Amino acid sequence: MDKKDIKAYIKDTSTPVKFIKGVGEARAKQLAKIGINTVMDLFEYFPRDYIHRKIEPAIFELNPGDSIAMTTMISWVNEKSTKNGKYMLNVGVSDGHSTLICTWFNYPKDYSQKFKPGNLLWVSGTLSEYNGQLQLMHPEIEFVNEEEESDFWKKREYLPVYPLTGNLTQKFFRRIIYNAFEEYVDKIEENLPEFVLAKYGFLPRKIALQKMHFSLHPEELDEIHKRFVYEEFFYSQLLWARHKHYHMEEIKGIRFENKRQLTAQLYHKLPFKLTNAQIRVINEIFADMTSDKQMSRLLQGDVGSGKTIVTLFAMLLAVENGYQAALMAPTEILADQHYHNITRLLEGLPVKVALLKGGTYKGKEQTKTDIREGNADIIIGTHALIQREISFDKLGFVAIDEQHRFGVQQRAALARKHKHPDLLYLSATPIPRSLSLTVYGDLEVSIIDELPPNRIPVTTLIRSSQKIDLVYKEVAKELEKGRQVYIVCPLIEESDKVDLLDAQRMHHYISTKIFPQYSCILIHGKMSSKEKEDIMRRFKDGEIKILVSTTVIEVGLDIPNATVMIVEHAERFGLAQLHQLRGRVGRGGQQAYCYLIEHMPATNIARERLATLASTTDGFLIAEKDLELRGPGEIFGTEQSGLPHFKFANLFSDQPILKLARKDAFQIIAQDPELINPQNSLIKDIYFRQYAEKEKLILY
Ligand code: ADP
Ligand code: MG
Repeated sequence: MDKKDIKAYIKDTSTPVKFIKGVGEARAKQLAKIGINTVMDLFEYFPRDYIHRKIEPAIFELNPGDSIAMTTMISWVNEKSTKNGKYMLNVGVSDGHSTLICTWFNYPKDYSQKFKPGNLLWVSGTLSEYNGQLQLMHPEIEFVNEEEESDFWKKREYLPVYPLTGNLTQKFFRRIIYNAFEEYVDKIEENLPEFVLAKYGFLPRKIALQKMHFSLHPEELDEIHKRFVYEEFFYSQLLWARHKHYHMEEIKGIRFENKRQLTAQLYHKLPFKLTNAQIRVINEIFADMTSDKQMSRLLQGDVGSGKTIVTLFAMLLAVENGYQAALMAPTEILADQHYHNITRLLEGLPVKVALLKGGTYKGKEQTKTDIREGNADIIIGTHALIQREISFDKLGFVAIDEQHRFGVQQRAALARKHKHPDLLYLSATPIPRSLSLTVYGDLEVSIIDELPPNRIPVTTLIRSSQKIDLVYKEVAKELEKGRQVYIVCPLIEESDKVDLLDAQRMHHYISTKIFPQYSCILIHGKMSSKEKEDIMRRFKDGEIKILVSTTVIEVGLDIPNATVMIVEHAERFGLAQLHQLRGRVGRGGQQAYCYLIEHMPATNIARERLATLASTTDGFLIAEKDLELRGPGEIFGTEQSGLPHFKFANLFSDQPILKLARKDAFQIIAQDPELINPQNSLIKDIYFRQYAEKEKLILY
């Protein structure tokens, strides 16, 4: 037997999904898109709902505003055209006694054919009322057709409903879940020791996983789910516990002296007054930098709270002590912006500022030499800064902007360019203090919790895509005043997989049909950075009036004359990301507007996200709500929100479990840091196999 055969022969839960009966290469690719690569990924992909096949007479008890999920029978189907030439589909569904109406606009062709009177239909959504009749607008639905199911599922009283995208169907997914359990159930390993299972009454992992998919009593699943949350928190806390145990003696860093030279000069020439929060935070940072200890501090502040200027003061403190200071940004556009702003703010000060970007360009070699020989004091750059060929003369301070956009290794790489520079991580995602320990371990945190004065809060409006013409009417008024507009779409180009507005089509539509008289340009992530930069500069200069884009414009951009942000398919974005997008406007002292355009079908969670955003501009509140509403990956850009991603746990609602797991983990490590005690052998095994690698990475 050669090696390849052996690989195919050994079956365990890390076996690729393509080997599961009924999957194959093509399906495996689709599964990979929702994060399922191995058998265990599939096991851990939990249903978001369960269909009870039985129709229960319950409609008479319902009221408008109630969220429901129930099985009904299709009674009638009615399709008609409305006044404005659109089609409306009404489907009456019944529980045997009463009827409610499901309504769709803008639905796919032939959609109505799917509804056959007499068939079972599972519906889920929030009830409204129309003409005294209960109604579900754009509900989520599942056809509960018995003949479509395999024998196994046919007999089940409950059917799981999975969060799927693209061409994956529930039926297919249920089939492979069944096949995977048939073949691999005995390979499921336990990852919590007996004493933990006993302490909390958790089910063994194997049984818990089976229950999540094949439960006969969905109401018991919240309880069962807790063990998955616990295990996830437990191992991440074990990591911090070991970190604290072994590495928290303070690392000696540079002791800067507050000479009040460059910093005082900057202070006196600032075009504005620092906010109290900025002053407090600068003091916190200076206290760290003037001590022996290496600073490792997180600077949190909402979009537009003025983190850059705070960072600049810290950089000047390093520079006036004869050190270099570096600022790394996640995109070229942002690095450029920092370079220009900082150069302007430092005009007349004896400080040399350099900009380093990726690729090859004129003058780059000289910049590298300047950095190496100490002819550059402040170095602003992109990932290019951490390339191997870049060396610093005397790097004493490092700031990482939009820190969550970098991997742990990338952040560490810049810190390692010199001996123990002081480190400042910038984040626009404020997170509740109670959580920052979990997320950032024992990193010190500074918070700018105050926006500069005279900022007028952005007016946020949720609009249906049906009423987009009215939105354009309002936008026209802003354009007439000379203001600029952002339009953000979730995709770049048309996709056959999902029916979403893409930036290309949007750009064509706006520039030919809606606002042909204004210059309107498309920008997206697939363009070269040269092109992007060029466009952003022209937007900044006011030459371009309307910018149609994907989310490339998300981070840190500062263009005061832009007063309108339109987000298409707002229901598809995460809360934190929407907050970031909205933060692009309202920076200029005029009233700004953010239009969240809702397309069908918006889930309840999506609605709540939008409503939250419309009701507040408080970044802390939004971050908290974001954690609370995090659903399984149906939204774009969660990875950009800056909050860590847990597979099972909800950082917000699962805090009580987090506390238990944290306490347990710290206690175990305090007694047995190397996990040599036999009762910890299982923990040791799993920890060192799956987590210990990360331990090295958090030691910048
Ligand atoms: P962020 O925290 O989102 O990175 P920036 O540092 O880009 O915010 O600052 C946003 C804008 O606010 C910039 O144009 C900056 O010059 C301005 N700004 C910063 N601090 C103040 C202040 N205290 N008063 C007025 N404007 C300020
Ligand atoms: Mg910024």
